[in-house]
Amino acid sequence: MTSHVGTEARPLRVAIIGAGPAGFYTAEALLKQKNLVCSIDLINRLPTPFGLVRDGVAPDHQSIKAVTRVYEKIAANPNVRYYGNVTFGQDIMLSDLIPHYDQIVYAVGAQSDRKMGIPGEDLAGSFPATIFVGWYNGHPDYRDLEFDLSHERAIVVGNGNVAMDVTRILVSSPDDLAKTDIADHALEHLRQSKVREVVVLGRRGPAQAAFTNPEIKEFGELTGVDPIVDPAELDLDEVSIASLADNKMAARNVETMRSYTERISTPGNRRICMRFLVSPVELIGANGRVAAVKIEKNALYPSDDGSLRSRGTGVFEIIEAGLVLRSVGYQGVPLKDVPFDTRKYIVSNQSGRVTDPESGKVVAGQYTVGWIKRGPSGVIGTNKADAVDTVKAMIEDLPQLSGIDDANRDPALIQRLIAERKPDHVSYQDWQLLDTYEIKTGEPQGRPRVKVTRVPDMLQVIRQNKAM
Ligand code: NAP
Repeated sequence: MTSHVGTEARPLRVAIIGAGPAGFYTAEALLKQKNLVCSIDLINRLPTPFGLVRDGVAPDHQSIKAVTRVYEKIAANPNVRYYGNVTFGQDIMLSDLIPHYDQIVYAVGAQSDRKMGIPGEDLAGSFPATIFVGWYNGHPDYRDLEFDLSHERAIVVGNGNVAMDVTRILVSSPDDLAKTDIADHALEHLRQSKVREVVVLGRRGPAQAAFTNPEIKEFGELTGVDPIVDPAELDLDEVSIASLADNKMAARNVETMRSYTERISTPGNRRICMRFLVSPVELIGANGRVAAVKIEKNALYPSDDGSLRSRGTGVFEIIEAGLVLRSVGYQGVPLKDVPFDTRKYIVSNQSGRVTDPESGKVVAGQYTVGWIKRGPSGVIGTNKADAVDTVKAMIEDLPQLSGIDDANRDPALIQRLIAERKPDHVSYQDWQLLDTYEIKTGEPQGRPRVKVTRVPDMLQVIRQNKAM
């Protein structure tokens, strides 16, 4: 009799595409299953693991990055292998993986950003906040971008935590940032920045803002920075006031905003101006670059689902600015040969099981987790419960799983194929060499690490340190 998949005789072979939090939590949830024997390969586009923990979390939020210790333990499990610098759909195709893995999990996050859909959005000087984040965090894709910080005012559109992060980085003292792992190129550029004021535009009111209270409170604690709020914009409508009773976070946010209206500004300080109930309707250019933003005053109205939405009132204002960062949400990007929901920008799925978007039929052996499963929401820890749910579906499906040909079950086979396709793929031990190098370089400067920000340089460091 043939043994079931997931036993000593036929260990479950799993490929996880993407080694960010969702990918690592999926591996963890699989390893925690009682009576399951499995071996897991994490395949990651960049040489460096940890996704947004390395490339998204703000450099001045180091404590959040401590979560990588959990991922390090997972990676140390002998049944887990890491293949960095390997792009799914380019270096290795789905058709290459299918014969080698019983189950494949997509955990690639949301690689792009939403647009505002207004005239002038593509002018020079207008960027998605997500790539500014990638730039200051040393993500190789954004390493060589240039942000013009020569104008005194920048505008950030959106009221989520990413908007808070980019605003804070724009006004923070470079000497404070110099103690973090912010990318050197960004620190150097921010040292020359002429930005004195960041105006943050929220399309709804302070009671509807998506940011969390610690983030907004931080504005009041930054060296040499005054948060400014016009008391008139805190004059809440009745529905908003009533909503505060059941929404403690919103109540705290409004309270923090009120405290800012009472602060006395210090001449010479940088400023964060929080504006509410305003939407950009056009970016105005001069000489091909963004020079100002036309905004419209909004009013709130109750939608059919009971939430408060915003709509324009026909009252406009123009704010001059040299840089506009739209922080209106990340967006998923389709993976080659993987069913995609073009309405929700996620891998088409039901509770983590990949489905055909047209027929709704489950695609056997394929799963998804994290932002590419549910959309770009929630904190890092949200992905843990999400991974547990996807793994629950994977385990439920095991009895029906016919599994791959046993002749292909040997992990050395895919190792050989990856080595052929991508000779400079990066193992976890290779990453540890780079990690140690970055940390060591940071030590004399009193920094957590100095990031290597170009892929060829990362590979060079790995080669050099391997040779030692
Ligand atoms: P988010 O929390 O979904 O916020 C998006 C913001 O964009 C909302 O304020 C939304 O307003 C606004 N928006 C959307 N479309 C708009 C438009 N056309 N015009 C004007 N405003 C528009 O997204 P995020 O900030 O990208 O964050 C993604 C996730 O990562 C969130 O769950 C966040 O909490 C998390 N994160 C956490 C941290 C942290 O814990 N420190 C840091 C960064 C990110 P409406 O509310 O009116 O739709």
